[in-house]
Amino acid sequence: MDVSTSSRHGVVIVGAGFGGLQAAFGLSGAGVEITLVDRRNHHLFQPLLYQVATASLATSEIAWPIRHLLSDRRDVTTLFATVIGVDADSKCVQLDDGSALPYDTLVLATGARHAYFGHDEWEPFAPGLKTLEDATTLRRRILVAFERAERESDPERRAALLTFVIIGAGPTGVELAGTIAELAQDTLPRDFRNIDTHKTRVVLIEAGPRVLAGFADELSTYALNSLEKIGVEVVLGQAVTECTADGVVYGDNKLDARTIIWAAGVRASPAAEWLNAPADRAGRLQVLPDLTVPGHPDIFAIGDTITIAGPGGDPVPGIAPAAKQQGRYVAGVIRARLAGRTSPPFRYKHAGSLAQIGKRLAVIDFGRIKLRGALAWWIWGIAHIYFLIGVRNRLSVAINWLWIYARDQRAARLITQGSSKVGR
Ligand SMILES: Cc1cc2nc3c(=O)[nH]c(=O)nc-3n(C[C@H](O)[C@H](O)[C@H](O)COP(=O)(O)OP(=O)(O)OC[C@H]3O[C@@H](n4cnc5c(N)ncnc54)[C@H](O)[C@@H]3O)c2cc1C
Repeated sequence: MDVSTSSRHGVVIVGAGFGGLQAAFGLSGAGVEITLVDRRNHHLFQPLLYQVATASLATSEIAWPIRHLLSDRRDVTTLFATVIGVDADSKCVQLDDGSALPYDTLVLATGARHAYFGHDEWEPFAPGLKTLEDATTLRRRILVAFERAERESDPERRAALLTFVIIGAGPTGVELAGTIAELAQDTLPRDFRNIDTHKTRVVLIEAGPRVLAGFADELSTYALNSLEKIGVEVVLGQAVTECTADGVVYGDNKLDARTIIWAAGVRASPAAEWLNAPADRAGRLQVLPDLTVPGHPDIFAIGDTITIAGPGGDPVPGIAPAAKQQGRYVAGVIRARLAGRTSPPFRYKHAGSLAQIGKRLAVIDFGRIKLRGALAWWIWGIAHIYFLIGVRNRLSVAINWLWIYARDQRAARLITQGSSKVGR
C-alpha cells in the first residue's frame, strides 16, 4: 500500500497513545506528511481505566476516536491497522493485511501490555487492565460475581463469589482495591436482598514489602492504613504462586476467590523484536539519548515500549507524562533535522506521582511536597479532569465524580460489554 503520493518527508507514527499522539501534535505545521497507524480506532486515557472496570465511568468518557482528534489536520492520515513488523532496509512498516507502508522517518509508540512473569496460563483466571475491552471484561466479572452471590445458597461458594483478589499493589492495584471496597461498602448494600455486600472481602496481594513502592515511605504507609480503614485486606511480602478458576495460592495460603485481577507485571510491545534491537528483561527497547534505535537514525521509539535513564540514572518511569514529553521531543528533533539543525539529548522532567485510594483519599508525591487525604483527592481529581480531552468529557466525568462523592451512586453499573470467553 502506498498511502502517500506526496513528495514531502513522510513520517509514520505507530501508536496513537500518549506518546504517538503528542508526536503528531508536535509536528503540526512542520511541512511533513504524517501517517498515524493504530490497531484501535480510539485514543485511551489509561489512568482512568480502573474507573470503567469498577462501574464509575462509561467507556466513552475516557476514549476518543483518533480520526476525530486529528480531523482538522490535513497533513495527517489515520490508518486503523495492526503493525506486525518493520523492514528497516526498505524503510517500510509491515501491516497485518500483508501490505507495506513506506516511511522516511518512523516513530514507534506502541506501548506495553501486562505480563504474567512466565505464567501466561494465569491470564484467563486473572485478567489484567490495559484496554477498554479489559476494563469492560473486569466490570462484567465484578458485577456478575455479586449477581451470582445473590442467587447462591451454599455459604462457601457465596463467600468465594464475594472475595475479590487483586495481585500487585502499584497505583492500579491500589486504585482497583479501594474502589471495589467502596462499591461493596457504599454503593451496593441497598440493592441486594439475599447477600450483605458489607461482607465482601477485597484482598490486595503484593510480593514487595509495601504498597505504592514508587512513592515516598510515608505516603505508602498512609495508603496502607487508608486501604485497611476502608476494608481492604493487604498482604505484603507474598508472591502469588498459583492462579486458577477457584482462587489463588500465596505462601502457605490458599484463598478461594471467583474474581482475580492482575495488576502486577508489564511487558513492552514487540518493537525491539521487530528491529532486532537491544532490550531489557521486560522487552523495552534500549534507545539512544536522542530516542533513536541504535543503528537506525531514522527510527525513533518512545513511551512504554522503551527504556532510557532519567537525570538521576534511574529509568524514566512508564507513565503518561514521560510518553508525552518523549513525543514532543521527537517532534522537535524531526523539525530540527529538516531545518539542518542538531538537537540536545532527551531530558525527562518528573512532575510528580499521584494515586487515588478511595473517593476522598489520595496521595501525591511532588518530591519535596507530599500531600495526602482529602486535599490530595481534590487535586488528583482536578488534574485528571484537566488532562481529559474535550469539554463534554470533562463535564461528564466531573458530574459523575461529584455524584459518587455525594451519593455513592455509580452510573455505569451495566453488564453489557466485556468478553464472554473469560467471563463467568
Ligand atoms: C491501568 C493503567 C493505569 C495507569 N495509570 C496511570 C496514571 O495514573 N498516571 C500515569 O501517568 N500513567 C498511568 N499509566 C501508564 C500510562 O497509561 C502509560 O505510561 C502511557 O499510556 C504510555 O504511553 P504510550 O504512548 O507509550 O503507550 P499507549 O498509551 O499504551 O499507546 C500505545 C498505542 O499503540 C497502539 N499499538 C500497540 N501495538 C500496536 C501495533 N502492533 N499496531 C498498531 N498499533 C499498536 C495501541 O493500540 C495504543 O493506542 C497507567 C497505565 C495503565 C494500563
